[in-house]
Amino acid sequence: MRGITATWLLLGDAESAPVRDGAVVLDDAERIVAVGPSSVLQRDFTAARWTRHEAVLTPGLVNAHTHLELSALRGEVPGGKGFVPWVDALVTTRAKHSPEADSEAIELGVSELLQAGVVLVGDVSNSLAAVDALGAVPMLGCVFHEVFGMRKDTGEVTLGLARQAKAARQSWPANLRYALAPHTAYTLHPDVLREIVHAADGGGLTSLHLAEHAAERAFLQTGGGAFADWLRTRNVSALDWTAPGCDPVRYAQRLGVLGPQLLVVHLCDAHPDELELVAAAKSPVVLCPRSNLHIELKLPPLLDLLRCGLRPALGTDSLASNASLDPLAEARALHQRFPTVSPRQLLAMATSYGAQALGYASLLGRLAPGLAPGVLAFEHSPGAAPSDPERYVIENAHAPRIMLSRPAYHRTAAFTEVHA
Ligand SMILES: [Zn+2]
Repeated sequence: MRGITATWLLLGDAESAPVRDGAVVLDDAERIVAVGPSSVLQRDFTAARWTRHEAVLTPGLVNAHTHLELSALRGEVPGGKGFVPWVDALVTTRAKHSPEADSEAIELGVSELLQAGVVLVGDVSNSLAAVDALGAVPMLGCVFHEVFGMRKDTGEVTLGLARQAKAARQSWPANLRYALAPHTAYTLHPDVLREIVHAADGGGLTSLHLAEHAAERAFLQTGGGAFADWLRTRNVSALDWTAPGCDPVRYAQRLGVLGPQLLVVHLCDAHPDELELVAAAKSPVVLCPRSNLHIELKLPPLLDLLRCGLRPALGTDSLASNASLDPLAEARALHQRFPTVSPRQLLAMATSYGAQALGYASLLGRLAPGLAPGVLAFEHSPGAAPSDPERYVIENAHAPRIMLSRPAYHRTAAFTEVHA
């Protein structure tokens, strides 16, 4: 057993105040035994090996949405003109590059997650190219195996190929969960979308990009707009379904796919009444603010989301639309533009809300007895203790960051059997 004392503890939930001169006691599997004031814990756990850190401690972070297999496209896909020009550039660059084949960029992405202090990742994949890299490191993950196909036949073919690719693997890493996932409601045939989401009913979790941008809304509402124009340039054959004539969230609701089994990603273009529907359906939510800024020059409606009672997780999206894989940089981007949202709640989005959204709330996301969330230290200069540790962590992009505890999630079955 060992104990860590530090200048401050931030517990990771949105309710608890920081603990000054706090301590964490860990067992040999890095599971938390006790959290509290260091004076009390050092008295109660005299047998523990104690170390002291001039730092603010938080739980390990959660990056709830990324696409590691696109890591080779860092800085390669310009944004700022909206989703359709961005995706056009992405498709062109991806065809030239085959980023999935660039295992070095994927390895670098995984080590960037580790260095950022990430303990849990939601990774969307077409090729399963990042699975081995993620399976080899002390992190937990949900791999969402993404399916496209606008016509029923193409959707079914892609779904079959995804199933085959999964079945062809000799083994699957114990630290990663697997689920098939629809790409979006406008790029996959509704029947295939429903089939995939309903396969996750009964305690599973899948993921869907939803209400990301204005062209998605226009396409579902009218069948036209910038996305329809783009499809014509790509010679996509005629669709075998008609636009539902409603907004993306109502379409997902009408398909019967909103619910606790569907992780809804983006909502950048969602209106308040649509957010109410997401909240009522109890779908977990992930926001990717810096990706939305890169592509659409727009942020998700955070205040409206919080007013509905949604507890959004944070994701970076891929390096094709972002500069780093650090979920705390997402919190910082929101902090700069939504100064009325507390740093405590922004940190919760990068920790406990993320763990909750991906189904790991009983293991990760909070410094609390019984959990094994990892312990992340944001160091400060000796004698220069921050007076507001929550602001220190959110605002100070350059605070030295080290993991003081990182359970061997990839080696210990006890860490992979947990469900929220
Ligand atoms: Zn994405």
